[in-house]
Amino acid sequence: MKKIIHIDMDAFYASVEERDNPSLRGKPVVVGGPPNSRAVVSTANYIARQYGVHSAMPCSVAQRLCPQAIFVPHRFSVYKEISGEIREIFYEYTDLVEPLSLDEAYLDVTLNKYSIPSAIRIAREIKEKIKNKTQLTASAGVAGGKFLAKVASGMNKPDGLTVILPEEAREFLLKLPIGKFFGIGKKTEEKMKSLGIHSGKELFEKSEAELTRFFGKMGGHYFRIVRGIDHSEVRSSRMKKSISTETTFEKDIEDLSILKQKLKSLCDDLERRLQKSNLKGKSFVLKVKYEDFSQVTKSFLFNYYVQNSSDFFDRATQILNSLNTQKKVRLLGVGLSHLNNENQDENQMDLFSSGLNA
Ligand SMILES: [Mg+2]
Repeated sequence: MKKIIHIDMDAFYASVEERDNPSLRGKPVVVGGPPNSRAVVSTANYIARQYGVHSAMPCSVAQRLCPQAIFVPHRFSVYKEISGEIREIFYEYTDLVEPLSLDEAYLDVTLNKYSIPSAIRIAREIKEKIKNKTQLTASAGVAGGKFLAKVASGMNKPDGLTVILPEEAREFLLKLPIGKFFGIGKKTEEKMKSLGIHSGKELFEKSEAELTRFFGKMGGHYFRIVRGIDHSEVRSSRMKKSISTETTFEKDIEDLSILKQKLKSLCDDLERRLQKSNLKGKSFVLKVKYEDFSQVTKSFLFNYYVQNSSDFFDRATQILNSLNTQKKVRLLGVGLSHLNNENQDENQMDLFSSGLNA
């Protein structure tokens, strides 16, 4: 039986802004903006959420819902620094830490550095240490698997500590609304509901064969997860080898200027992914797949670590130009390896063999 903790900072960016600017306290705060723009909300504090404001919503909508909201621009360098401090606290207990973003991580504390038998005690200690070090609150979920731990951490926010014991898992899963299950997004939720599956209870009643017929390979996953079978490993970011992103176009593209626009948005996406994981890399790779499914990958090694799109976009464009082919392009991908979390003499990993579309 594994012991997994999911830690999630409460309204992280907004809480940092309130911490550093006391005049914001007690008011609806939205990090992101500017207001009335197409930019999206990064984080809303709990007061703003009462007005229906939530992350990923266009700022113009947020402003309409909550006209008195105070919009604050993000300060990623500050969030990253705090995120690093929090991670150091995690690493006091275990190296098996899988960050999902700057403010969220899974920890496998089954075997931990202090040999503390109680995961609940570890979760409590971590919350206290985070509070002392950063003056910010986190919510923790403790369970036997990643999925239940994550659901648990979301149950009593803010400043919560929720435990789902193995003997409670069954009943808990049967009551859980179907959209809350791991791996069930909006679309799948709709499909589940159209099949009469609204909660774990109805999911539990379906056979594996039925679920596979409706959902393909994922059917087996849904069958297991509603039974509390969740063997997914906590994957340590300390072992992350590369970060990449790619896109297959709806129609093959011939026009170089359009390709460059696509390349720009991929580079920007790569930058976001790197920032999210707080990583930099040295080896840049461009991947191009053509209409005939032939494929080239070209890499470039910087002699310093890069993280920003502005650092590698020009180089990516040069590589793209140098390919100079007449064939239409079906897919573009960009990635960085030689990340600053690994030994530099390690071999370059195959960037596109794994982790894509993750
Ligand atoms: Mg959070």
